[in-house]
Amino acid sequence: METLILSSDNEDIRTAANIIKAGGIVAMPTETVYGLAADALNGKAVRKIFQAKGRPMDNPLIVHISDISQIHLLVREFPRKAEILADRFWPGPLTMILPKSDKIPDEVSAGLDTVAVRFPSHPSALRLISLSSPLAAPSANLSGSPSPTTVRHVCDDMTGRIDAIIDGGDCDVGVESTVITLAQEPPRLLRPGGITVEQLREAIGEVIIDSAVTEPLAEGQKAASPGMKYKHYAPDAEVILLDGDAEKFIEYINTNGKDGDAVLCYNEDLGRLRLPCIPIGSEKDTETQAHRLFSALRETDRLGIKQVYAHCPSKEGVGLAVYNRMIRAAGFKIIRL
Ligand code: AMP
Ligand code: MG
Repeated sequence: METLILSSDNEDIRTAANIIKAGGIVAMPTETVYGLAADALNGKAVRKIFQAKGRPMDNPLIVHISDISQIHLLVREFPRKAEILADRFWPGPLTMILPKSDKIPDEVSAGLDTVAVRFPSHPSALRLISLSSPLAAPSANLSGSPSPTTVRHVCDDMTGRIDAIIDGGDCDVGVESTVITLAQEPPRLLRPGGITVEQLREAIGEVIIDSAVTEPLAEGQKAASPGMKYKHYAPDAEVILLDGDAEKFIEYINTNGKDGDAVLCYNEDLGRLRLPCIPIGSEKDTETQAHRLFSALRETDRLGIKQVYAHCPSKEGVGLAVYNRMIRAAGFKIIRL
């Protein structure tokens, strides 16, 4: 299949909307990561997303809207807490799980009784949705690999597999949206992202953090969010997290690092490590770390790195999202120093 590369100008977005309306699939920029979009109300079109990504059919998709009035087409209930969160954080990097309406095809919800909904803030995504329909869109990467935050990442994974790619420059947040379920009480955080659990609690009170955010699923444990049971975000290199202060981190790597290894480091470590370094931001700047993480993981593949060492991130604020992605990239391997 030939993949059309489109710009973000009005004419090209209109072309992309026509592809969607005809049942095709298009990669679009959002403020979190690039998404791979199809008409959310067309089950046959949505199926193509799973095929292009190699995504297991039991992993449901997020539906993206461009106007709050579209919510009532998608959900049976819109509880007061969801309204508060929508007022506060939409448009933006927050996904809410709610009881689904009968309009949602089984392909989108993977047979669950709920649907995940998000109102993104990226102007190209909003224009595309308003010219076509609500869009089901997971991240536009091959299943299992780091999510795409630049148009180059999307081209690397999706050229020849999808109808079109809209070039919208680099994504701002860099990690996928925060996912919270309001289909149960108290609400539960299923995936951390750019909207922090501290912000959610400030808005609606109690929010439980699902154990799968920071821990591997126990043998036989059912995932509250099906996506959490799959290997994720992994580059070809083996990722090893080191938990300890800066001095121990540097000493461990300078003693144990081998040729062909590299480090995802903080800016403060630069010049002190004897392996190739890919800086992901300052130690305290978790937003920059989130912004750069997936690019840095993909860079290790480009360089043919075998093992990559990284700091075990802080779990505060956006750090929880960085931690959640890093421990999955590392297959939960952490060396305590
Ligand atoms: P992605 O599409 O890659 O951004 O991943 C979307 C995440 O949201 C995955 O972890 C899904 O399993 C999760 N998700 C989507 N819909 C639901 C739902 N109805 N209930 C629980 N988790 C969901
Ligand atoms: Mg994904």
